[in-house]
Amino acid sequence: MSDRNRELIQRDLAVLWHPTTQMKDHEDGVPLIPVASGRGAWLQDQEGGWYLDAISSWWVNLFGHCNPTINEAIRTQLERLEHVILAGCSHEPAVTLAERLVSLAPSGLERVFFTDNGSSSIEVALKMSHHFWRNTGHPEKTRYINLSNSYHGDTIGALSVGDVGVFKDAYEPLLMEPITVPSPDCFHREPGQSWAEHSESMFAHMEAALEEHAHETAAVILEPLVQGAGGMRMYDPIYLQRLREACDRHGVHIIADEIATGFGRTGSLFACEQAGISPDFLCVSKGITGGYLPLAAVLLTERTYQAFYDDFTRLTGFLHSHSYTGNPLACAAALATLDLLAEPETMTRNQETARLMAEAAAPLAKHPNIGEVRQTGMILAMELVQDRERCTPFPWHERRGLSAYRHALKRGVLMRPIGNVLYWMPPYVIDAEEIRLLGEVTAEAVDVAAQTPWNRSR
Ligand SMILES: *Cc1c(COP(=O)(O)O)cnc(C)c1O
Repeated sequence: MSDRNRELIQRDLAVLWHPTTQMKDHEDGVPLIPVASGRGAWLQDQEGGWYLDAISSWWVNLFGHCNPTINEAIRTQLERLEHVILAGCSHEPAVTLAERLVSLAPSGLERVFFTDNGSSSIEVALKMSHHFWRNTGHPEKTRYINLSNSYHGDTIGALSVGDVGVFKDAYEPLLMEPITVPSPDCFHREPGQSWAEHSESMFAHMEAALEEHAHETAAVILEPLVQGAGGMRMYDPIYLQRLREACDRHGVHIIADEIATGFGRTGSLFACEQAGISPDFLCVSKGITGGYLPLAAVLLTERTYQAFYDDFTRLTGFLHSHSYTGNPLACAAALATLDLLAEPETMTRNQETARLMAEAAAPLAKHPNIGEVRQTGMILAMELVQDRERCTPFPWHERRGLSAYRHALKRGVLMRPIGNVLYWMPPYVIDAEEIRLLGEVTAEAVDVAAQTPWNRSR
């Protein structure tokens, strides 16, 4: 490694604590990448080394790094107003963005509450749902139903309704206790069963939980179609249709966490569209600014809004805020992102890109150490396994995914597997040649990982 790269890494490790990182890993062979610039689907380090950003910088980037349209929108806004308190003040970018989100979202979602990151939008939806029931004479609705293997963020409330042990276990004594229902995740379907058959049959668990707990439950919270941090596990839209019908029948809200799936990622603008349903709360973030600036929003119904609307002295208001709520620069980036999404060629190009991804992954589906290749739109994932026939996993502590990660990095591809799940979730601007590279490097990385556990790979 060159001196400039090495020097920055040394300074970094002396002062920074990185997110979701066991910092000792960086002294045990996991390289830290000193990124100096980005362009399109690529990141460049301080010495001119390039890395293909196959994970859209943690699923946020849609139209490439340093996108000229978004850059320009932020620059223009920067000359007018950088930020203003959104309580008591209004500004054009927030209003226009709210109008546009409402016009794009599934029908019935007519109000927008901004926050400044995904987790905080989950906190808002959880609080609002309970508070709605309280304001309408049901203060006993204080619980949430979630799915096994779900992820909704790392703040205490969001962590409570998630179900990924590595993120959650240490904090268990601090958390609310959700009612957890087995996920409709199709990785666990019987041989010969279709996704729809499996997901639909799994709904029996949800129905039973609603029967038993609806009276004390404010909302069901779930990630529509793809459970992201849980390893890109996927399920059929039929589950969401069943859920909408059942929640209406039982008087329970649906909180759709589309923080990862929103804005075209799954092949439709929102994943809920594929089921033709409208949730009561829709949480969006990540791709909303094209991966530029922190911003999130909760979209909700007029009925919910009206349950809070009254004379101040009746104390029914929603008194919740984050300092950077509705930041104008972030809203400007979001508006430019929505412009790009609205171009007719964007979604057709995504379909073509998704097809190229499937093609590039097809040879991997036959690899003796790949248990499954699955895809929903612009998310393609594969399970690295010890034995393909029985889908036996590698022991978790062998950290095979990390061996794959390091190999891919050496070949100029940034992948960051989730445990032993390797996935591609690239910016929408990735081209055919880059996808071909992704396929080639992933195949090599799978070979390396299958041969060598992390602790013996150095
Ligand atoms: C990333 C993510 C969150 C949390 O968003 P942050 O902005 O990281 O707080 C919540 N839910 C899902 C589905 C996510 O993918």
